[in-house]
Amino acid sequence: MKIEIEEAAKKLQSANNIVVTAHINPDGDAIGSSLALMHILHEMNKNVRVFIDDVIPPNFLILPQINEIEHPVELTEKEISADLLVVLDTQTDRIGRTLNLVKAPILNIDHHVTNEGNNVDWLYLNAEAAATCEIIFDLIKFLPINLTENIAHCLYAGLATDTGFFNYANTKPSTLRAAAVLIEAGVKPNVIAEEMERKSLADFKGLCEVLKTVEFFYDGKVAGLFINEAIAHLVDSTEGFIDLIRVIDGVEIAFMLTCKDKNLNRVSMRSRTVDVSKIARSLGGGGHIRAAGCSINTSFDEAKKIIIEAIGKSLK
Ligand code: AMP
Ligand code: MN
Ligand code: MN
Repeated sequence: MKIEIEEAAKKLQSANNIVVTAHINPDGDAIGSSLALMHILHEMNKNVRVFIDDVIPPNFLILPQINEIEHPVELTEKEISADLLVVLDTQTDRIGRTLNLVKAPILNIDHHVTNEGNNVDWLYLNAEAAATCEIIFDLIKFLPINLTENIAHCLYAGLATDTGFFNYANTKPSTLRAAAVLIEAGVKPNVIAEEMERKSLADFKGLCEVLKTVEFFYDGKVAGLFINEAIAHLVDSTEGFIDLIRVIDGVEIAFMLTCKDKNLNRVSMRSRTVDVSKIARSLGGGGHIRAAGCSINTSFDEAKKIIIEAIGKSLK
């Protein structure tokens, strides 16, 4: 059932034992919104646990109390009961093992236009919000707490990363106003930016190999990077790689195909004008108009053919 933000706030207020989760392959918004909500719920004296079923990239280790994020595989409990499971920045199909581990009604808070609210009790969706962190920022107005420096750090990290440091089309006056309030609460934009942009030497060398794989399609309107199994071993994080080909003159759609495992490949897409969320959705994924993704469960070579063909159709 779709609900308004006031009702989402009420659901949080009436629960006492709350589990917060976000999507696998977590980005700054997934991690920032989950941790911010953890700090908010602590301020409200709630019992809260945060589960993310994936590796947390080292760039986010500066966020306050990030070590409290638990990894479902390491938990000995077979089942965890709670009053509420809050799913952030995704629909429930991308939260991994947390879905079966936690037995509780689900409150889903998200900004992905493709979220249809399947299998959740309540969905607060605001596709106008630049990030889930912007929604959490708005939510605070309906909760009996004040913005703390810890909350502000987490929210700023998500807001900054989902907007490409306030460069993408999702950056709105409300986004910048929220950022200003977060800076007033103690955030240092340069500190967050430096930490988010940091790369290990190994990842930098891996990036050099990845850039050699670039190929152009459809008269240069499409550029792709191809991280097969061998190259995937060279890099820990591919964050930001796609942005390096997105900026090439004439490129409408940039994409990156990454081998995650045998017969499991991830696609990331970015566009200037074409609605890539439609392409992602046609392959079982989702996202936003200008940034979307999906998984393709075939061999790497087959996945390459599938994604190039799907992108080609959208250009017609
Ligand atoms: P990424 O390329 O991983 O940064 O993802 C771009 C956008 O698409 C993000 O907002 C993701 O949450 C979304 N997205 C990526 N993969 C999927 C997927 N398999 N299903 C739904 N949304 C996705
Ligand atoms: Mn995200
Ligand atoms: Mn997001």
